[in-house]
Amino acid sequence: MLLEALGVDLENHHFRKTPERVANAWIEELCSGLGEKKFSITTFPVSVDYEPSMVVLQHIPVRSVCSHHLLPFVGEATVAYIPDERLCGVSKLSRIVDYFSRRPQVQEELTSDIANFLCEQLSPQGAGVIVKATHMCMAMRGVSHDGVMTTSSLKGSFLSEATVRAEFMALANTLSLNKL
Ligand SMILES: [Zn+2]
Repeated sequence: MLLEALGVDLENHHFRKTPERVANAWIEELCSGLGEKKFSITTFPVSVDYEPSMVVLQHIPVRSVCSHHLLPFVGEATVAYIPDERLCGVSKLSRIVDYFSRRPQVQEELTSDIANFLCEQLSPQGAGVIVKATHMCMAMRGVSHDGVMTTSSLKGSFLSEATVRAEFMALANTLSLNKL
C-alpha cells in the first residue's frame, strides 16, 4: 500500500518482491522483540566474601525504530548495576538491550524498560542505563541534522547516592559512537 501510494512501478523487478521482503524484515528482525515471550535471565548468588561493586557493560549496540516515524535510531547503551544478592552473566545485559530494542518505541521508554527489567530480575542495590543514539527521523527529515540523543534511567543507589551516580556517569561518558 505504501509503494502504491508513492506511485512507484510495482512491475519493476527491484520492487516485485519488496512487500514480502519488508514484511519479513519487520516481523522477524526489526520488531522481533514483540513476538518473543518475555524471558527471565539466569542469576547466580554472590559469594559470602564478595563486596558488591559496580558491574558495567558498555558499547552494547542499540538498533531500534521510532514509533513516531518508523525510521531507525541507532547507537549504543551502557548498562550497569550493583548486585545485592544475585549476579547475572554479562552477556545477559546485552541480551536485555537487544530484546527491548527490537520494537517501535521512543528512546526514553526503551531506556527505562531496560532499567526496570534489570531491577525486576536481579533486585540489585541499584542500576543505571544510558542510551546514546542518532535518529534517522531527525537526520533525514525535519531539521536534517545528525545529533546524538542521550537518555538515562537510574534506580536505587544510582539515584540516591551521589558517589555511585558520579562513578557511573564517568564510565558512561567514555562511550564512543565511532562504530555507528
Ligand atoms: Zn521519529
